[in-house]
Amino acid sequence: MAKVKNWQINREMEYPYEEHRPKRQWSIVFDLNKCIACQTCSLACKTTWTSGKGQEYMFWNNVETKPYGSYPLAWDVRVLEQLGQQEWKKKEPYYGKTIFEAAQPEEVAAHFAPKDEDWMYPNMGEDDCAGTVVGGDHISMPHNKWFFYLPRTCAHCTYPACLAACPRKAIYKREEDGIVLIDQSRCKGYGECVRACPYKKSMYNTYTRVSEKCVGCYPAVEQGYQPMCVQNCIGKIRIMGFINPPWKARDDNPVDYLVHKKGIALPYYPQLGLEPNIYYIPPIHADRNYLTQMFGPNVETAINNYQSLREDPVAQGLLVLMGSSDRILHRFDVVKGWATGYDEKGDKIVSVPVNEALIERPAFDEARGLIRGNTP
Ligand code: SF4
Ligand code: SF4
Ligand code: SF4
Repeated sequence: MAKVKNWQINREMEYPYEEHRPKRQWSIVFDLNKCIACQTCSLACKTTWTSGKGQEYMFWNNVETKPYGSYPLAWDVRVLEQLGQQEWKKKEPYYGKTIFEAAQPEEVAAHFAPKDEDWMYPNMGEDDCAGTVVGGDHISMPHNKWFFYLPRTCAHCTYPACLAACPRKAIYKREEDGIVLIDQSRCKGYGECVRACPYKKSMYNTYTRVSEKCVGCYPAVEQGYQPMCVQNCIGKIRIMGFINPPWKARDDNPVDYLVHKKGIALPYYPQLGLEPNIYYIPPIHADRNYLTQMFGPNVETAINNYQSLREDPVAQGLLVLMGSSDRILHRFDVVKGWATGYDEKGDKIVSVPVNEALIERPAFDEARGLIRGNTP
């Protein structure tokens, strides 16, 4: 195995191939404080990509309720069990093992294989909260009874386990955008990628007898548009862009700003060692120990930074730009109360006010001589 740098765990780790970062890296940031589990994203993906034979239970984008929901069943519990102790202190390297380091001698990565029926209950555990609500309970922060929604796509990882495990070398990572694809003509359906991907985002099609996964909506991305699951997000909780590693981060790049500059968006289960490229703004109301296991030791800082954004007009501007355009924003700025996004050439795509104008109408309308019943 080669030694590669993984900035998310703050140390080198073992991986079957030498370190190679693409020219730019596809990435999505999700604000988990805003997801309402409407599943519009899941259906946008399904109607675009997975409505064919053998894809009946396939959701390349899914939304599960944490802590009890999971698709496939118990995927995260079963993966975390493989790692053993995951000791990690803030600002220090991760001391535990990644899935590549926890692998048995004959394996590429520690893994498990979901059974067919594990994929059949994508909404299992939906809206089930942690803890029991009894009479007299009241809300505190963080909530003592809690759940949150976790939308998930393939993370187009920097160190993909699916790619590392494929004996046919049918999986490749594109140089132009870092999207990880399965070459359908090379795949023989051995299912090694399905077993190795800890996020369970490579799936086996029993009809075509080859494996499939989220394609990052590459045809849209090539045209400068965000993926279908991002464009159609009702809650405007997502933004897709190109993330740089921390040593190349740009303050005017929307994804870099949220992940590197403000430190409010975190990778999920970074201890697995894949350097996943989807990032989450953690939910402020949920149990901090649970969130720390999922997002690493910077959760408390990320939540504090998020809660202090009310003092930061630039960050507020970026949050209102999320979901404001179907195009990819390569750069943004916030000037005189307006947040603006730009395309790759630097041309303006969209401009939105950071604070929406509030207009109070007088109850008595003199022009019409009537009293208006304002709806609060
Ligand atoms: S469309 Fe957006 S708000 Fe709705 S479930 Fe998906 S991520 Fe959440
Ligand atoms: S999330 Fe899984 S399927 Fe996607 S690139 Fe990473 S290892 Fe591969
Ligand atoms: S990026 Fe495209 S292919 Fe991937 S989950 Fe979203 S809609 Fe589906």
